[in-house]
Amino acid sequence: MIDAKAIVTIDGPSGAGKSTISRGLAARLHFTYLDTGAMYRAVGLALTRQGIDLADTDAIKKCLETIELDLVPNGDDDVRVLLNGEDVSQTIRTPEMGMVASRVSANPLVREKLTFLQRQLGEKGGIVAEGRDMGTVVFPKAFRKFFLNASAEERARRRQAQLAEKGQSVDYQEILDQISKRDYDDSRRQLAPLKPADDAIIVDSSSMDPEAVIACMLASIAKSDR
Ligand code: C5P
Repeated sequence: MIDAKAIVTIDGPSGAGKSTISRGLAARLHFTYLDTGAMYRAVGLALTRQGIDLADTDAIKKCLETIELDLVPNGDDDVRVLLNGEDVSQTIRTPEMGMVASRVSANPLVREKLTFLQRQLGEKGGIVAEGRDMGTVVFPKAFRKFFLNASAEERARRRQAQLAEKGQSVDYQEILDQISKRDYDDSRRQLAPLKPADDAIIVDSSSMDPEAVIACMLASIAKSDR
């Protein structure tokens, strides 16, 4: 039986199904879901709205000092993202904001602030934390770490279907190019690059449905040894 204060991390490239799996796993474990990508997207939105140049360290610092970022549970397996009190949950969910988040996330000041906030949110434990550096940097002592992957083509197909469900029609090739660029940048940045932690369990979900992935993770969590 997993300790109610444990932390489970799920890292991986964009479109690997991290959100669906993390929400599902959190619900099954009665844990809280922590969507750290949403935090980078919200900061990206704040900096974009203020027209801040990513090379302008002073302006970024000032902006970060005034930003108020809240993740509010919405039902059992969803969260609302509040930026200075405004619900930006939908606004941040576009492919463009994904690209902005990726650029912003390479900035050391942004990473420092969000890593601090994420550790604060994880202090009490009982969370499933999803992102790129959850197992490597933010929660290196997590109880169980997963690295969720899938082929780039399958990830692009899933992302396209996800966006279509929300009424956004985006060309498959455009999505494939965007996620490939994002993963390339996220993996090669100096700070907290996207990579599996040494002790992460790698799960390739290319030919698995979400329930099968969740079942596989629950089975691994139920085992006391890795
Ligand atoms: O997961 P999501 O697609 O919402 O993440 C958006 C971007 O935020 C990623 O491409 C990545 O650059 C950045 N990110 C990060 N570290 C995290 C979560 C997200 O650098 N823990």
